[in-house]
Amino acid sequence: YTAKRSGSGTALYEAATDSYTACHLATLTDFRRALDADDQIVVHLQPKVAITNGQLLGVEALARWNHPVRGLLAPSEFIAMATSAELSAPFTTKVLTEALFACRSWLRRGYRVPVSVNITAHCLVRPSFAFEVADLLARQRVPADLLCLEITEDTLVADPTAAAQVLAALRATGVRTSIDDFGTGYSSLSYLRQLPVDELKIDRSFVLALFPHGSDEPADDALVATIVDMGHRLGMHVVAEGVERRDELAVLAGLGCDSVQGYLYSPPVPADRFPVELLRTAARTTPSAGYQVLT
Ligand code: C2E
Ligand code: MG
Ligand code: MG
Ligand code: MG
Repeated sequence: YTAKRSGSGTALYEAATDSYTACHLATLTDFRRALDADDQIVVHLQPKVAITNGQLLGVEALARWNHPVRGLLAPSEFIAMATSAELSAPFTTKVLTEALFACRSWLRRGYRVPVSVNITAHCLVRPSFAFEVADLLARQRVPADLLCLEITEDTLVADPTAAAQVLAALRATGVRTSIDDFGTGYSSLSYLRQLPVDELKIDRSFVLALFPHGSDEPADDALVATIVDMGHRLGMHVVAEGVERRDELAVLAGLGCDSVQGYLYSPPVPADRFPVELLRTAARTTPSAGYQVLT
């Protein structure tokens, strides 16, 4: 480095390195504390809406860190740290607990709203993960079929054999699974047939690519059409993520895509700010299920 040759340059270079490290360590210490606190790691919920009739089919829980000094932080600020080997388990437990709590609150009000949670690669190599999930469901008194776990392709390629076993165990408990950011990973298509997966989420980049030259041009829909068709042939529910515009929604509807998520309906919001008109379209609990009686 040129910086190392001149005296003042070296000082600058080292100061920059040190302050980066110090900042990172401080953040790591703060994050460990956040995992122990009960109000710092929160989830925001984003609706997943049926294309044909606008019904609320579920919500995705997206983690936020309510930092005592820095305010509300997005996953880009902390997710790499959170998904490191050592912090992955407590972080995922935290997010699952928050997500199931919201699901449970809605059940008590009579709404069946399935909740999706993103999980890390480390979860899928831990044989005990399915038991931990079953335990959390029991403690939060949420039926297993109201939980969906979102997995990226890269999560699967890390250790496909272990992942397949954990997914099979999750399936046996009734939990659903989804392939997130579909089309952006490096895995082969053959895993889609082999793994027990219920849902496929088309990555936002494909939605963005529908109108590369503006919406007055015909949509460039070959890739999205292919993904929707493939998902359906494999018996999966197909969701498009990051839908912001009416013209995107219209194309996706024409292609037979089942549901959408995106700013067009709502950004991720705290449970108490969730759009009530959407909540009212959700499936209702049957009176005999007794959710309203329990507290
Ligand atoms: P993802 O699971 O693919 O989530 C979708 C991301 O797109 C979210 O960003 C969401 O806020 C954003 N989004 C939704 N609709 C729109 C839209 O219409 N336009 C645009 N431009 N963006 C939209 P977010 O919340 O920042 O999360 C980013 C990523 O961080 C997630 O991508 C997921 O991979 C990861 N992540 C978030 N929460 C968790 C978590 O609890 N655990 C794990 N392991 N990963 C998480
Ligand atoms: Mg996701
Ligand atoms: Mg995604
Ligand atoms: Mg994404």
